Amino acid sequence: MSCEIIQIDGQDCLLSLSNDITERKQAESRLKVANNTLQRLADLDGLTKIANRRRFDSYLKYHWEKAQRERLNLTLFLCDVDHFKAYNDHYGHLQGDACLMQLAKILRAGMPSSTDLVARYGGEEFAIILPGRSPTEGTEIVQHIWQTIQETNLPHTASPTATFVTVSFGGCSFVPGGSIRTARQLIGRADEALYQAKQQGRNRVIFSDLSV
Ligand code: GH3
Ligand code: MG
Ligand code: MG
Repeated sequence: MSCEIIQIDGQDCLLSLSNDITERKQAESRLKVANNTLQRLADLDGLTKIANRRRFDSYLKYHWEKAQRERLNLTLFLCDVDHFKAYNDHYGHLQGDACLMQLAKILRAGMPSSTDLVARYGGEEFAIILPGRSPTEGTEIVQHIWQTIQETNLPHTASPTATFVTVSFGGCSFVPGGSIRTARQLIGRADEALYQAKQQGRNRVIFSDLSV
């Protein structure tokens, strides 16, 4: 009789241990999902829902090191909305926000593959990282986006250089054996090209051939 009671207690004990393990596994799996969601949110820009500056920095670092190691091309473009202060002054900041969201959507739709990344670099500036893309491929991708922006024809009657919202693009590439030696240099060259695009009248794509 006493033997039977001990056995029943033992079964209860095993059952309860097995329930504990199942619950623990479920909790761990919920935590994993929550962590992944948190990680995704930490990498997203709150307004435009594309990658943020933090994601840009880590993605560029990763692909810069990979390009160096495996001697691959890496193309980068910086983009800046033209006369955006005038846009806000004329249409208001809420409409300005909506305009940035719309441009982000066009930029993201223009990325041909999941390894091509568009991020909000800051304010009304975006950055495009095209791992493994040659200068020609990269420029074609960005020219296509530029064309889509023309066709979308978002009104900007306060712009001194167009009747619609325009964006200037400046790019350059790391090419194995070329003159670019650091990721900072890559950003610097893209920034110089963007400056030239602004200087030459905005609403254009300039690729810095100093990188080859
Ligand atoms: P440029 O053609 O030389 O680039 O002229 P710009 O007016 O675009 O450049 P400027 O740097 O003078 O102004 C940038 C404007 O972008 C000012 C700032 O208020 C606006 N801006 C930056 N971030 C946001 C945002 O999140 N929402 C809105 N609505 N405006 C923003
Ligand atoms: Mg700017
Ligand atoms: Mg601007």
